[in-house]
Amino acid sequence: MSPKKEKTSSPGYPSLAKLCIESSGKEAACKVPAGLYLVATPIGHLGDITLRGLVVLSQADVIACEDTRNSGILLNAFGIKAKTISCHDHNEENRVEEILRRITQGEIVALISDAGMPAIADPGFKLVRACRDAGASVVVIPGANAALTALAGSGLPTDQFLFAGFLSPKSMARQKELIALKQNTATLIFYESPQRLAATLADMVGVLGASRPVCVARELTKFYEEMRRGTLGELAAYYAAHDTKGEIVILVGKSEEKESHDIDALLRERLQHLSVRDAVAEIAAMTGVPKKEVYARALEIEARKA
Ligand code: SAM
Repeated sequence: MSPKKEKTSSPGYPSLAKLCIESSGKEAACKVPAGLYLVATPIGHLGDITLRGLVVLSQADVIACEDTRNSGILLNAFGIKAKTISCHDHNEENRVEEILRRITQGEIVALISDAGMPAIADPGFKLVRACRDAGASVVVIPGANAALTALAGSGLPTDQFLFAGFLSPKSMARQKELIALKQNTATLIFYESPQRLAATLADMVGVLGASRPVCVARELTKFYEEMRRGTLGELAAYYAAHDTKGEIVILVGKSEEKESHDIDALLRERLQHLSVRDAVAEIAAMTGVPKKEVYARALEIEARKA
């Protein structure tokens, strides 16, 4: 007789969870203490849930979800049957009291969002602040996050980055937000909807210039995952001509064109009211051109005056 096949909605994952829970050792060693747990969930591929995330979710007394129906699909896939409550942008403040009371009574409360890391462009920040203020335990179970996944694969510099979340849906406000970011040399990371992608890229060309390197990361970890790279001008033109679906991260690198400064013109203007020393110091700091070079130019200009 062939062994009876166990029916699972997502083959492999429930048994993985079981393995993880059992491999944590004795009951006492694997029992999760009371507290608030921010559990990262996949941004597409179900395999990106973490073993630790599964342990916490499987032991939670209650799971606070951005959307209980969306999270129900994920929890079902892993055979997790904990009670769920909603915790979204519109009720997060009201939930704080209930969740704090639960934690004080010794419960494990997990917070998950529809995808990725809770509290990052998702509900959670107010709840975490309230728990910290009340001295309650807060534990983050790290995992998938769209911004960092896109950054790591973009080919843009990763040493400094600025996560700017969603820009305004209105063009004027969006341009103002971009102006405030224009001088920042870190890689800029934005979340965007497919419907607004072309308009946002057009505004970026207008404010940041067409030559900046950019990467549009779409449907990360999913079947139609793609990373399209080019200059802002190129990708703005591409997406103006192609309708796009799916979830999107835009990453913008710093300008690779060397800014050209007319050092002589700057010096001539400054030397009318500043000493050579002060003019050189100011222009070197402003342009990034070495002091020695600026000083040499200043001496030549002064010599011509004589
Ligand atoms: N908390 C999530 C995280 O850690 O990344 C972000 C939630 S935010 C409400 C949703 C936005 O994240 C989407 O509109 C999209 O810009 C980005 N995003 C989420 N999943 C993505 C994916 N698989 N590929 C590309 N972008 C994604």
